[in-house]
Amino acid sequence: MPVSTPAPARTTATPADLDVLRRQDPEIAEVVLGEMARQADSLQLIAAENFTSPAVLAALGSPLANKYAEGYPGARHHGGCELVDAAERIAVDRATGLFGADHANVQPHSGSSAVLAAYAALLRPGDTVLAMGLSFGGHLTHGSPANFSGRWFTFVPYGVDAESGLLDYEHILRLAREHRPKAIVCGSISYPRHPDYAVFREIADEVGAYLLADAAHPMGLIAGGAAPSPVPYADVVCATTHKVLRGPRGGMILCGSHLAERIDRAVFPFTQGGAQMHTIAAKAVAFGEAATAGFAGYAHHVVANARVLAEGLEAEGFAVTTGGTDTHLITADPAPLGVDGRTARGRLAAAGMVLDTCALPYGDGRGIRLGTAAVTTQGMGEAEMARIAVLFTTALRAEGEEIHRVREEVRELVGRFPPY
Ligand SMILES: *Cc1c(COP(=O)(O)O)cnc(C)c1O
Repeated sequence: MPVSTPAPARTTATPADLDVLRRQDPEIAEVVLGEMARQADSLQLIAAENFTSPAVLAALGSPLANKYAEGYPGARHHGGCELVDAAERIAVDRATGLFGADHANVQPHSGSSAVLAAYAALLRPGDTVLAMGLSFGGHLTHGSPANFSGRWFTFVPYGVDAESGLLDYEHILRLAREHRPKAIVCGSISYPRHPDYAVFREIADEVGAYLLADAAHPMGLIAGGAAPSPVPYADVVCATTHKVLRGPRGGMILCGSHLAERIDRAVFPFTQGGAQMHTIAAKAVAFGEAATAGFAGYAHHVVANARVLAEGLEAEGFAVTTGGTDTHLITADPAPLGVDGRTARGRLAAAGMVLDTCALPYGDGRGIRLGTAAVTTQGMGEAEMARIAVLFTTALRAEGEEIHRVREEVRELVGRFPPY
């Protein structure tokens, strides 16, 4: 499928029958309906978000939510698990097939829970871990003092080159030799390029460290063959099932068979209780979708859209970090347009364009961070990406009432691409 072909239109009116909720609890129904309208009526450019399919939502909203299932298929601490066991076995089989991994654990409640379990399997409190510093795009679980990771382990942060915004592998190797970490984490919430997993593996081998890939962001691109896979290189791969992968909110862990038992015990009973079987069924549905040719086309289209959007933003005067992107993710400094990241996020939000701020490779200013996973699911293509780049500067330059005109243009644009 050529990457410029828009994703096929999706067929359904509403993700769930909300009548019963409206009748019983109008207060919450109003929130749900309002949020559905907000998602359809503005541009969702948050890099970690996507529109999951009606089939995924159906599994999530199913009575599997009622089932208690501590343990693993065939070895549960509760009765009546035969059918949910089947759901988990299907999810595990699809995950290992999709990513070419020996073992998958699909129970982590979130990406953070997956990382917590991976650390629990590999480390002891006090161990040293080398990971991307939070001021460069590391995740909270990569050593934030406000998170268990920073409290229980000794994190040594690596960064990116201030000029190029790229990972500096020489620097990472020097830090590894100096600090002899027990584990090295690669993965980020905002790095727009592919990590070189083979180089990370070499560095980890040289110092005898585990290599943990936190691929929460690119996992959907990896599934669709639009990004290199860490699976052949990392001891453990952690990911989310939402984000580009387009499944339910949740986490997963992949590893080789030699670590399978340790990973499983680190998830349950060490860091979690009963698995959420409705979410696991929904993960299975998402893995099934991600194994299709249509999803591979989608993943490549996400990257093609991000490249066009990054070029457009650069042409409009934004300083795009690393000069572009290989992924769904773009980070950029709006300073050349006379605004900082926080002001830009506020003005863009006022015009109906929703995104985040992020750290920049240099200084302590904030940039903007955005992604193309959701807009690509809606069926937007390269023409729309070019238009969005122009809408950005129009919104940032708008004075007074002019912002309302930009808001209307955004409404007209998204109106042509309903997410459901
Ligand atoms: C999103 C993300 C996580 C955490 O996912 P949650 O489901 O929000 O806990 C962890 N690591 C990285 C690199 C991420 O991008």
